[in-house]
Amino acid sequence: MKILANDGISDLGKQLLEEAGFTVITEKVAQEELANAVNEQEIEMILVRSATTVRKEVIDACPNLKLIGRGGVGMDNIDVAYAREKGITVINTPASSSQSVAELVMGHLFAISRGLHDSYKNMETGDFSALKKKYAKGVELRGKTLGIIGFGRIGQSLASYALGCGMNVVAVDRTGNPVNINVPIGNGHEANVSITPSNDLHNVLGQLDYISIHVPKQADGSAVIAAKEFAMMKKGVRIANAARGGVINEDDLLEALASGQVAAIALDVFENEPNPRKDLLNHSAIACTPHIGAATLEAQDRIGEELASLIIGQFAVKN
Ligand code: NAD
Repeated sequence: MKILANDGISDLGKQLLEEAGFTVITEKVAQEELANAVNEQEIEMILVRSATTVRKEVIDACPNLKLIGRGGVGMDNIDVAYAREKGITVINTPASSSQSVAELVMGHLFAISRGLHDSYKNMETGDFSALKKKYAKGVELRGKTLGIIGFGRIGQSLASYALGCGMNVVAVDRTGNPVNINVPIGNGHEANVSITPSNDLHNVLGQLDYISIHVPKQADGSAVIAAKEFAMMKKGVRIANAARGGVINEDDLLEALASGQVAAIALDVFENEPNPRKDLLNHSAIACTPHIGAATLEAQDRIGEELASLIIGQFAVKN
């Protein structure tokens, strides 16, 4: 059976699939050529990350497709229900990237606390003494309160890192069950902290020094944070969004930054990917990364391994 890994696959994932007898093609096919390539090369499985989309048109045009695999969590680039209706297996790897997204967010929280993102941009051309003054009002994470909105896999992984840094964690989720957070401290030690999420975002917003959002794209496309929510936050709050573009209203965000209500924000995701608006990218209080939350070598290996084991488990015998 031929598998097209159109957005790449780790060496380990490829090796496991090839050892099980699959042919893995990794030469990228342009989106508009996808259906032709699948049919001409007799490909029965497509693996994607977030770049390639597999919509109804591709599914209709490829009657021999047996599986669509998404390396990662969000499946908004695949018409999942339609594919399943047509008898196509659709899989993803929800747990593989939680830790990598959580680490990116911690990096961003440290960066926006000290203006690191802006300093990196300006050191080459700026005046040293002026910049030293500009970045002299940094703040520290330890002892501060982080609100994690969306307390699923990534939110819980972030809680583990934040607790390990001595932050207080307040969680918000639609489900209010207590969660035991394991905090590996290193040198073989660990701590355990139980956190019960609130289901009332508006009630907790005013307590938070930092906020990180980890909800999926909302079914109705609505923003979880817009003008009303910004107004309820502590003045000078710092925020990270490594969830999905649109869960924060970008117009309202720019106003909240202009008024000083939000001191700084980190964005890994944008409403208009892959062409985010320039007034976000060149804003000195916004730390931007190009949707790389899940993109660590370790996560790629975990994703490749998980995809390979799911595929081998379901299809290797018939191969
Ligand atoms: P998850 O399903 O484990 O957790 C999401 C949680 O959000 C759930 O517990 C759900 O109850 C909660 N939720 C949903 N809407 C809510 C709302 N309006 N208010 C409060 N809680 C709400 O998902 P996850 O694995 O933690 O991933 C979260 C999201 O992160 C994904 O859907 C994806 O969009 C995004 N993500 C981004 C990257 C990246 O590269 N930046 C990588 C992986 C995932």
